[in-house]
Amino acid sequence: MGNKVRLRYAPSPTGYLHIGNTRTALFNYLLAKHYDGDFILRIEDTDTERNVEGAEASQLDNLRWLGIEPDETIDKPGKYGPYRQLERLDIYQKYAEQFLAAKQAYYCFCSSEALEKSREEQIANGNVAPTYDLKCYHLSPEQVAEQLALGTPKSIRFHVPENQTYQFNDMVRGAVSFEAKDLGDWIILKSSGIPTYNFAVAVDDYLMEITHVIRGEEHISNTPRQLMIYDALGVTPPIFGHLTLIVNEQHKKLSKRDGHLMQFISQYRDLGYLPEAIFNFIALLGWSPKGEEEIFTKTELIKIFDEERFSKSPSMFDVKKLTWINSLYLKKMTDEDYLAFVRPFLTAAYDLTNKSEGWLEMLMLIFKKELQYGQEIVELAKPFFVAPTSLNPATLTMLKSLPGDHQWLNSFRDDLSKISDWNEGAIKTLITECGQKHQLKGKDLFMPIRIFTSYQEHGPELAKVIYLIGKEQVINNINNLISKDV
Ligand code: GLU
Repeated sequence: MGNKVRLRYAPSPTGYLHIGNTRTALFNYLLAKHYDGDFILRIEDTDTERNVEGAEASQLDNLRWLGIEPDETIDKPGKYGPYRQLERLDIYQKYAEQFLAAKQAYYCFCSSEALEKSREEQIANGNVAPTYDLKCYHLSPEQVAEQLALGTPKSIRFHVPENQTYQFNDMVRGAVSFEAKDLGDWIILKSSGIPTYNFAVAVDDYLMEITHVIRGEEHISNTPRQLMIYDALGVTPPIFGHLTLIVNEQHKKLSKRDGHLMQFISQYRDLGYLPEAIFNFIALLGWSPKGEEEIFTKTELIKIFDEERFSKSPSMFDVKKLTWINSLYLKKMTDEDYLAFVRPFLTAAYDLTNKSEGWLEMLMLIFKKELQYGQEIVELAKPFFVAPTSLNPATLTMLKSLPGDHQWLNSFRDDLSKISDWNEGAIKTLITECGQKHQLKGKDLFMPIRIFTSYQEHGPELAKVIYLIGKEQVINNINNLISKDV
């Protein structure tokens, strides 16, 4: 038995990777790596009715894309496998039988109808938290043998030790305790031979030598049952940490059903968010570094992440912040990487067959400073692919507020049409000369040129924009507006 730090992320394959479970995976990963330990991914697929086709593969694929690579998992087994619970049924059976033999557990032959009836009776008698009525706990060995001989369906139920208090020191919440008397005897192995969550998770965490468990706060109330299993096995439990909630901007618990908010990693991936940016952003959801800095590489996060700075209050999932962090990461990319990253979004949206490589690169690069995520390039680049037909009302108002009648644009257009080698430098020179010729400078010069040539009020460097729109189109744009007498 080693003393290596080992943490795990144990998703049930009931859905795709979303912000909440990515946070759990990431925190377990970061703590493991901080202590030079192992990060394990185990699939908890015992709730067979709820398993979703493709969820397992998608979880793993998206985690890997984010850079959260397990040291051991289903397709990368270590010595602790198998890593899918349904492939470990013989292991749970063995421990359940061990508990039976030690009288820590017993066979339960109660049907679901009988259990429901007992529950209803307890509620009718004023018991708000009904528990198992211990009927099968009191069966004599002969009665048990009789039921077994009859082949009555049987589950295995764990007997909760009386008068016991279950305590643990949570990494997030400090001391937490539960009284045994509030927890009824519970099923560890169903009649189908499939274990229940609390039993399987504790057996697996023990056998996989998990040292720390970080998970969502909804699992706090499960922890005492898991502690019972550790006690019954005679082993020390891992150190637990139950993270606080992630809430939306309305301070409501993030819900997968909230269709307005994108919560799945694949959605951000498809939109052109960078894995490094998402990794950085999620690391700050319920954990904070010392100081004000918020932008960290994976290596830096591994170095500074620890169990001392988990947040005690809910953390807000702020898409604007994620988008801002993403734009910082885009700006930090080399031009080469940036171009390779952005290009597929343009390729998917526009026909690029007649565009030169130089033109395309300039187009992508003029937006590098402002691009927030890959897909945004499609909208930003639209004026360069789709000729504008009219000014939007705000731009028209802005144009009308500028002094003069803009007749000088006729001469600017004529000069543009005379450029034989269409390039950015020539256009820049022409703009300067135009200012001198017509005694215009600053906004009075640039704004009309920008609006008449591109129909936009704002945009990247003017000479580049004019170059990219192309000579013929720019001249058409100017002529159209002049003819409309704006
Ligand atoms: N399979 C459980 C879940 O997805 C794991 C909980 C745990 O980490 O113990 O919620």
